[in-house]
Order: sequence, then C-alpha cells, then structure tokens
Amino acid sequence: MIRSKVSPKEILFRPPVEAYSLLIAVTSGCSWNKCKFCGMYKGRDFEVYQEYQILPLDYVFEQIDRAAEYGYHGYPVYLAGGNPTSASTDYLVKIINYVRKKLQNVKRVSCYSKALDILRKSDEELRKLKDAGLDIVYMGLESGSNTVLRLMHKGTNANSFIKAGKKLMEAEIKLSLYVLLGLGGKKYSKDHVLETARVLTEINPTIFRFRSLGVGPNIPLWYDLEKGEFELIDPVEYLIEERDIIANLGENVTSQVFNDHAANYCYIESKNIQKDRDYFIKTLNSYIEDPRFLTMKRKKPR
Ligand code: SF4
Repeated sequence: MIRSKVSPKEILFRPPVEAYSLLIAVTSGCSWNKCKFCGMYKGRDFEVYQEYQILPLDYVFEQIDRAAEYGYHGYPVYLAGGNPTSASTDYLVKIINYVRKKLQNVKRVSCYSKALDILRKSDEELRKLKDAGLDIVYMGLESGSNTVLRLMHKGTNANSFIKAGKKLMEAEIKLSLYVLLGLGGKKYSKDHVLETARVLTEINPTIFRFRSLGVGPNIPLWYDLEKGEFELIDPVEYLIEERDIIANLGENVTSQVFNDHAANYCYIESKNIQKDRDYFIKTLNSYIEDPRFLTMKRKKPR
C-alpha cells in the first residue's frame, strides 16, 4: 500500500543531469525531511505531502516492466525518492538486477543518498551494490561547516560526510556531491567556504556540483529570513563563494565540477578542477568584476 497523499509517481525529484533518464520510484519522501532549506516533500505550512516510505518491491517491479513494455531501453535509470539507500541492500540489489535484466543497454543506474545511509552499510554491502550495477550516488553535502550544517538541521556533520564519501569511493561507486552556495548566509559565509573546501579536499569526490540557495515560503528557512535571523547573500556573493571554494581546494582534488542548476548565476564547468583551477577562477573573476552583477536581482527560488 502506498501511504503518501501524492503518489511517488506523480512527484519525482531528480538531479538536473538526470532530466532524460528513466525515473523509477523506489522510495517516496525523505527519511529525514528536516533540513531548513528544503521544501521538496513539504507543502504549505510545511505539511508533509509525500510520506517517507520504502515502496513495495512489486510496485517497483511493475514500473520496470512497464518501461520495458514501452521500449525504454538504452536510457540511464534513476532510482527516485529522497534516499533509496535507506532501504536494505538486498532490496536494492534485487531492483538493480531487475533493471539490468528487463532493460537493455542501461547507460547507468543512480540514486540520491544520505551520508548516514552509507555509514550504516558495510563495505561488503556497498561492493554488492556496485557489482549489481549502481554506478553513481548523488549526495547533498550542502556545506562542510558544522556550524552551518547544525543551524540548517542537516542531521549530518562534516566528519560523517567525509567517512561516507570515502566509503563510496573505495567501493568504486561514483560520488556526486551538491554544494549549496549561500547556505551560511552573510554571517557564516567565510566558514561555509573554508570548511566546504576542506571537506571536498578530504573526499576528492568524482564530481561536485554547485547550486545557489533560494528561499521561498514553502521552506522553514523563510521564517528565519522574515524574522531577520538569516540574511541571504547577494548574487555576486554566490560567485565569490564559489571562487573561494575552488581557490581553497587542496592540490589533490581532481573532481569534475558543474554549475548545472537553473538557480545558479554562472554555467562554467570542468572535467578536472586540478587542471582547470586557474581558468575557473579567472572566469569567475570576470563575472565578479562585471558591474552588472552588482545590481543584479536575486533569482526566484526554484
Ligand atoms: S535536503 Fe535531502 S535530506 Fe534534507 S530534507 Fe531535503 S531531501 Fe531530505
């Protein structure tokens, strides 16, 4: 039985890079659902409209059967829901095996994950997921600053992110981390930058992606903003934070870097930030020094 008010097939979130992937709902909602900056599974007055649930295996298999029937072969497959890795490894392995059995030439299988889900799994379990064909895991690091993570009720600290990230990389599962520019507001911007650069340096993830914080009335942080307890940074400061994170990375970092979210103020990317660091910083500086950025309006939250 599916318990959510909104069917997990009606509202599915996925990273922008999975826009053309086959989406298979595996969990609904998010097992945590407390991050102050997130309105993904909340409606007005923060009412939870998609309850967290690990979906019945039959229900997941039916979606895969239907995709096979409609000829969805050759597509990447994205296992949707807040954090499918909250489910048992056996359950996930069954799903990935079924995907690879029913659909031909699947380019990759990926999903979102929370760091604590990964820490709860043994190295052997992660290896089983890799062997079944889980190629990439997306994780919202948001910030490396423990102060910011605590204020935003992320429920995970920097150390857990480092441990979980290293575990995934050791199991040879690709890791794509999200960094949320502006999450420290004006007050903690510096700590957000320096600590995020430190955590990224420790993990050296396969990929990291920037997204810019936007605050709408459907997210708890809106009230902090209204009360003057949180101050958003200006458009140009998102670029300054991004530049300073890149500038403070250790020399070991070889990650791919993307700005592939519509909320961002620039769209530069790198296949290897170790090689492109100077070019990246120079390009960001050319935006930062452009006087039009000083009067630019903040983008509407997305
Ligand atoms: S940001 Fe991720 S972990 Fe936090 S509430 Fe939203 S979906 Fe859940």
